[in-house]
Amino acid sequence: IKFTDLGLSEPLLRAVAETGYTTPTPIQAQAIPQVIKGGDLLAAAQTGTGKTAGFTLPLLHRLGPAPTHLKGRPRALVLTPTRELAAQVEESVRTYGKYLPHKSMVMFGGVGINPQIAALRKPLDILVATPGRLLDHAGQKTVDLSGVEILVLDEADRMLDMGFIHDIKKVLALLPAKRQNLLFSATFSDEIKVLADRLLNNPQLVEV
Ligand code: AMP
Repeated sequence: IKFTDLGLSEPLLRAVAETGYTTPTPIQAQAIPQVIKGGDLLAAAQTGTGKTAGFTLPLLHRLGPAPTHLKGRPRALVLTPTRELAAQVEESVRTYGKYLPHKSMVMFGGVGINPQIAALRKPLDILVATPGRLLDHAGQKTVDLSGVEILVLDEADRMLDMGFIHDIKKVLALLPAKRQNLLFSATFSDEIKVLADRLLNNPQLVEV
């Protein structure tokens, strides 16, 4: 199987080709066509499997060729447990989205909030965030989550281990009911299953 078999748009295939990847990893081969179809996804994948491209590529595809350019109102939201992972994911969004007009932003705690507030006054399509700082912004109304069409929970098991379940529930309450949900987790504890049941509608299951 080749990247060109997965249904991705030409600007994304061009960016992938420039990274030098020739073959999709198993998680990419399975997840990308499913996410493009628009349904919810439950993916069991460890770090190192290529999971980041497995959701960033089809997410960018789903947003289509045109930017929305709404200030502080993202159409896609990726939640991660740590600032390092958030930064990596947003870097991937930039890499794979280099031939698309979408704007991305990363936000996490432990750094000043004012530069983030300034960034949120600019056009935004894809927001990658850790839950606590995202809720700070939502509380201050510097971010508007009512336009989120696609939600990704990356490393959901780590988010739960770090005690983010209440923050995640608060974020979910701010999102529109009609949206696409992708849940990535390395492990499947009962707690993850409860979250998946609550979050996902008829998810496709992908395991590698
Ligand atoms: P991840 O599991 O998303 O953290 O990705 C692990 C590493 O695999 C990253 O350094 C990616 O750049 C790399 N990678 C992702 N997809 C591919 C691919 N299809 N072929 C080769 N390397 C890849």
